[in-house]
Amino acid sequence: MFVVPESEIAGLVSPAQCFEAVEAVFSAMARDEAYNFPVIRESIGHADALYGFKSGFDRAGKVLGLKSGGYWPGNVEKGLANHQSTVVLFDPDTGRPAALVGGNLLTALRTAAASAVSIRHLARSDSRVLGLLGAGHQSAFQMRAAAAERPFEKVVGWNYHPEMLPRLAETATELGLPFEAVSLEDLGAQADVIVTISSSFAAQLLDAHVRPGTHLACMGTDTRGKQEIDPAIFARARVFTDEVAQSLSIGEAQHAVAAGLIGADDIVQIGGVINGTVPGRQSDDDITLFDGTGVGLQDLAVAARAVAAARAKGVAVEVDL
Ligand code: NAD
Repeated sequence: MFVVPESEIAGLVSPAQCFEAVEAVFSAMARDEAYNFPVIRESIGHADALYGFKSGFDRAGKVLGLKSGGYWPGNVEKGLANHQSTVVLFDPDTGRPAALVGGNLLTALRTAAASAVSIRHLARSDSRVLGLLGAGHQSAFQMRAAAAERPFEKVVGWNYHPEMLPRLAETATELGLPFEAVSLEDLGAQADVIVTISSSFAAQLLDAHVRPGTHLACMGTDTRGKQEIDPAIFARARVFTDEVAQSLSIGEAQHAVAAGLIGADDIVQIGGVINGTVPGRQSDDDITLFDGTGVGLQDLAVAARAVAAARAKGVAVEVDL
């Protein structure tokens, strides 16, 4: 099997390659050629950690495996990232382990790729202002990937902790875009595309903030109880997701469904839009909402690309297990 250490991941797969990998696996999921296994996520009663597995099999791409990891809040004091993950790939023909891959950077890249896929397929083509709600570790990846999808002319941002907003300004500068820190009212009033990427447990963006025509990529909610937006927005939006089962259980839609504002049948797998089998945005006035919950197949897809690139570059370490 091959080991691709975290330190080698940067530079192995570009955001564009991650986009391609994630779009392909969403498409395969909608064709029933790839599926995720149920997610396990447990509070382990040690080090305040949340630990779990996301796994699946992509028959179309012949990728089988799992991502294991979670959240260790005390890591930052040890000079480590709080989010830790590792991907293990198996040979689908034999069950033999094929690769062990550092999953931290890949998680950020595949998450940003998912919202970028939603922007490409659902946002208005004349979108010019990008909005960010959230300014943590993932936000820079999100902004970069979103900026590649439309000729944005400006970035506006809001964060629960305003002292973190300079991070968004830095990334916007790197992209050559002006940045404005705004109120939530202004975020909704100015932005054509809004990416939410916070660890909030209560609605921040309210129904009254969101204009017709907006595309929302809700990326922060990946656990039961988390929440970034007013569930009422779901009632007037066309709702899309990576996987309906996760959207209902751990995604942003969990709250709108619990409140009876929408049902499972109102949530459309984005792969169908990619494949052209279900409609996406139907009018410039539609609010489109992508509930990006983060599926294991995304991790496997980008990890498989990273292994191929590492082998080609000679930086994958071969071990006999
Ligand atoms: P981070 O810890 O670096 O940043 C946290 C962000 O949430 C900051 O903007 C912070 O100001 C904000 N925040 C913290 N407490 C808050 C509160 N009480 N109310 C509102 N906002 C609050 O985290 P990150 O790595 O940037 O991840 C952001 C979120 O994205 C997390 O919830 C994480 O689990 C989620 N995530 C989702 C996916 C996916 O596939 N959908 C993948 C990776 C991360």
